[in-house]
Amino acid sequence: MAYEPIWMADPDKLNKFEFVKMEKDGLDVIRTIIEEYAQQGFDSIPADDMDRFKWAGVYQQKPKDGHFMMRVRINTGIMTTQQARALADIAKVYGRDLVDVTTRQAIQFHWLTVESLPDIFKRLEDVGLYSFEACGDCPRTIVGNPLAGIDPNELMDTTDLVEEINDYFLMNRDFSNLPRKYKVSISSNLYNNANAEINDLSLTPAVKVIDGQEVIGFHAMVGGGLSAKPHLAQPLDIFVRPEDALRVAIGVTTIFRDYGYRQKRHHARLKFLVADWGPEKFKEKLVELVGELPSRGEDKTLGWEAAYFDGVHPQRQAGLNYVGLNVPVGRLDADELIELADLADQYGDGKIRTTMSQNILLSGVPDEKVDELLSARVLQRLTPNPRNFMSRTVSCTGNEFCNLAIVETKQRAKIVAEYLDENVALNEKIRIHFIGCPNSCGQKHIADIGLQGTLVKTPEGTVDAFDIAVGGTLGPQAQLNKALKGRVKGDHVGPVLAELLMFYKENRLSPEESFFE
Ligand code: SF4
Repeated sequence: MAYEPIWMADPDKLNKFEFVKMEKDGLDVIRTIIEEYAQQGFDSIPADDMDRFKWAGVYQQKPKDGHFMMRVRINTGIMTTQQARALADIAKVYGRDLVDVTTRQAIQFHWLTVESLPDIFKRLEDVGLYSFEACGDCPRTIVGNPLAGIDPNELMDTTDLVEEINDYFLMNRDFSNLPRKYKVSISSNLYNNANAEINDLSLTPAVKVIDGQEVIGFHAMVGGGLSAKPHLAQPLDIFVRPEDALRVAIGVTTIFRDYGYRQKRHHARLKFLVADWGPEKFKEKLVELVGELPSRGEDKTLGWEAAYFDGVHPQRQAGLNYVGLNVPVGRLDADELIELADLADQYGDGKIRTTMSQNILLSGVPDEKVDELLSARVLQRLTPNPRNFMSRTVSCTGNEFCNLAIVETKQRAKIVAEYLDENVALNEKIRIHFIGCPNSCGQKHIADIGLQGTLVKTPEGTVDAFDIAVGGTLGPQAQLNKALKGRVKGDHVGPVLAELLMFYKENRLSPEESFFE
């Protein structure tokens, strides 16, 4: 091992999964999958290695009957059409045609068998994609500005920086055993396209005059994360020049690896260390590890647009446009993805971009081709002009496939959005997020209205229900949403939200007052 794992010094401070990780590195399971389990089948997989499957980007899906879900990293949400077609082919051949866009811009498959994994790994690698470390206690998919390189509202194109940092950490055994998952966000967009505050480490747009020259770079935030104990990331008093970004990322990740808590799994995310240390002590340790860094400059984040882009918008490049499409609750099928790839090649720049709002963008469309593109058959469902509520509804996987889920979410979310679109007339677009358990993969806490699945007892038996929280937002006015009293039965969510929204419409102080205010 290339570094000294200092946390091993005190075994009493290690939870039992730490011993599983020490016994065999999570990354080693990839070879075992290829060489053993894919040949010997599902029943040959011991429990410890099943837990390590996460490092391959693979989880058992519900019910645990031999099928898996897989997450594929899409750095900053930008893929080529060749990559999109490879993903669609995998979904067709092995994944019953399902393609989910996640809230971290990744692509998720379901229904995979262990026998199929070696071929899927190979198909991904052939087009430069990886599922490795998309899950597990390691640096996950780096989220970023899906408009990087074409964005009129970014200070710099962050595509290469994301690739550089991704390439450093991916499959790097110095960082494949962190206390828990570790999420990085890098964006230079002025409207916080990469949801900075809910990541372990975020780089956000900033400028600073250094030696008489204005330098474009980043501010850094650390210690954000959702789940049952949500924290917003805290700013560090540093300015990060683009050439310093990798060493800052290495420094922050090293602090997490070496000083992060490993005693209790639910108290192991970086956010708990940051909360205890505070940003000053964190900066001191960072500087000790990576050397001096300039202090903060001028913050350039102007607001938050929640990573929504519906419609046709001009790019930074004159005469070209990007088109934001709605993917209802983040789910499309393989043929739709292939059709989007064909459109991206025929009308655009050969890229497909995924967003943290579980949607898709096409880009590089010349002005004169926009109308023809918009008439394409696949854009009738994946429309650039979605109805208000469907356009802003996000959902986690829920109990259709997720073993941790308490309730079903995706189908419910779609039904509720359709109900609200039929029954509530509101000019403002209200963001509604559904999650099936406290883990918050659907990022409930940042929604205008967040719904968290639970169960309630009724005279007819136990039924699905939801806790409701309101008023979440990110950006300069970042706040997590706050729980309302009471629970709502799953079947009543649509009518209850309709009532809540009509109350808001009738009682807001002015039509300009936004929901989170
Ligand atoms: Fe599963 Fe819970 Fe995450 Fe939803 S929030 S996908 S139910 S772990």
